[in-house]
Amino acid sequence: MQLIFEIVTIHVMIAETGHFIDESAIVATLEKASRRDEKAVREVIAKALEMKGLDLEDMAVLAAVSDPDLLKELFDAARRVKETIYGQRLVLFAPLYISNLCGNECLYCAFRARNTAVHRRALTQDEIRRETEILIQQGHKRVLLVAGESYPQEGFDYVLKAIDSVYAAKVGKGEIRRVNVNVAPLSLDEFKRLKDAKIGTYQLFQETYHRQTYANVHVGGRKKNYDWRVTAMDRAMAAGINDVGIGVLFGLCDWRFELLALMQHIQHLEATFGIGPHTISVPRLEPATGSDLAAHPPKPVEDVEFRKIVAILRLAVPYTGIIMSTRETPNMRRETFALGVSQISAGSRTNPGGYAEGEDVADEAQFSLGDHRSLDEVIYDVATLGYIPSFCTGCYRLGRTGQDFMDMAKPGLIKEHCDPNALSTFLEYLLDYGSEKTRIVGEGLIAKTLATMTGQAKKRSETMLEKVRQGRRDVFC
Ligand code: SAM
Ligand code: SF4
Repeated sequence: MQLIFEIVTIHVMIAETGHFIDESAIVATLEKASRRDEKAVREVIAKALEMKGLDLEDMAVLAAVSDPDLLKELFDAARRVKETIYGQRLVLFAPLYISNLCGNECLYCAFRARNTAVHRRALTQDEIRRETEILIQQGHKRVLLVAGESYPQEGFDYVLKAIDSVYAAKVGKGEIRRVNVNVAPLSLDEFKRLKDAKIGTYQLFQETYHRQTYANVHVGGRKKNYDWRVTAMDRAMAAGINDVGIGVLFGLCDWRFELLALMQHIQHLEATFGIGPHTISVPRLEPATGSDLAAHPPKPVEDVEFRKIVAILRLAVPYTGIIMSTRETPNMRRETFALGVSQISAGSRTNPGGYAEGEDVADEAQFSLGDHRSLDEVIYDVATLGYIPSFCTGCYRLGRTGQDFMDMAKPGLIKEHCDPNALSTFLEYLLDYGSEKTRIVGEGLIAKTLATMTGQAKKRSETMLEKVRQGRRDVFC
């Protein structure tokens, strides 16, 4: 008997234009929402508390809120959703700038090609290893690799080699367990090679979804092409990269417009690939050497609006991670943890070589930082506030990415894994790298957290913590 095998191939149409960003629909939705009353706002907040997400109209209604009482209700709802889904965990990472060479003219960035005030530098693989070793010695386990859009002689292979160099670095019991990447949009083939290099998340910010604003601020180089950038995640996902991170550079265009456009991007990815982004980043424009635009943002986002952005995103996409970088001050970072942020960078340098050579080399850095504290100082601070710093890389290494991650996250099951993993990686940090005062606060927090846990999560945590105390490392479930 002859067996006939039918090979089924799923054809995904890879978008070539940003047709899914519908500017006139966004403007009309915002206009309509500005006329809605208190009752409508409360209905949206009630819907958000069901934790099934929000649509564009709902987000527009919340974006229009200015009444202090309603604003408080909005923030309270975001706090509740954040706490229910993420508990007290905060995932930590460090950016690793490997090169500031760039062929583009993004008017807000110090790395732009024509900026002569910046000294250009692409780290060698040895220098990348050295930077990584310093991060490992600080206690980091997760790195975000960042580069300008121009590579040394070997081209894109430079990035792939850099990823290998990071994973290869070891110091004592420490190593980097997840490399996320923020580099310029790639072709489908390049994305496939990036996936083979075992990256965690591919991250790329659209900067602004508004075409005219995009054209005004990207005046030279490949990045001028809006469509190539906005369709990057389609190519990444078609290449099998399940975890993608999107974002907006706030300050370029009206933040309300950007929020709704971001949602259209998410809806497009969900409709095409069945999953949305793994993370959303919310960078605000910061001063940058040689950039007038960065010093005077065209549409500055006030602090209260920035908190609203985080809260609305938390309610709109409850299961998507929100990343807060060290662009913001310690105070603003603290406030937004409660409103929805789930990942933060710490101890960052934005100049290539900055971990070995210090932050002083400002003429190589991308933008000014708002938080200059070391990783240990940040950990001491967040632990004092009751948040559990997590270096967990469990999901990614057990293959729980994309749809698998969402399936687990949605019914709240993630807590069964995330909480124990957070505690065990936090204890690793405390034992191997923590200062004495951080260890004291941290041990207290671990004991307090264990006391509130029940069932399987508690049992798992106790077993894993015991293994770490006995000297085992990289214990995860
Ligand atoms: N070159 C790649 C690109 O543009 O996508 C990736 C790296 S770029 C260094 C990373 C991000 O830094 C950009 O996407 C942009 O949002 C952000 N950035 C640039 N200039 C900034 C500034 N002045 N303040 C805050 N963020 C900035
Ligand atoms: Fe280059 Fe990226 Fe900076 Fe633009 S934002 S100038 S592409 S490094």
